[in-house]
Formats: sequence, C-alpha cells, structure tokens
Amino acid sequence: MEKININKDRCVGCGMCVHAHPEYLVFDEMGQAEPIGKEVTSEDKKDILETINSCPTEAITIIEE
Ligand code: SF4
Repeated sequence: MEKININKDRCVGCGMCVHAHPEYLVFDEMGQAEPIGKEVTSEDKKDILETINSCPTEAITIIEE
C-alpha cells in the first residue's frame, strides 16, 4: 500500500504539509513532519501530490510498502 514518507534530512518544519493533511501527518518532537502511517487513499492522492510539489525542500514522497 502507498504511504507518505518524509525525508527528515530535508524537512525544515515549515508545517505546510501537516496543516494541509492533518489526517496523514503530525509534527514530531523536533518540529518536523511525521507520517502517522495512514494508507494514501485514491480520493486524497491528487491533493497529496500537489502538496508534494509544494514542499519547499522536496522532502515528501509517496512510497509503496
Ligand atoms: S512541507 Fe516539506 S519542509 Fe514543510 S513540514 Fe512538510 S515536509 Fe517539512
């Protein structure tokens, strides 16, 4: 199944993705985006792909698990 992955070496904690997708992402203790492990639904995928393209550091990907 497809899940959101965050590259913590890149994430600067701007919060854009967390606020756009609170059902998928939270902040970790360092203030970086943290996926909660929810499967990406077909209904949400288009919006998530837009968020991926908007991340200022290209830290977000969708991975197959
Ligand atoms: S949009 Fe990118 S840089 Fe901002 S919190 Fe999300 S992953 Fe981190």
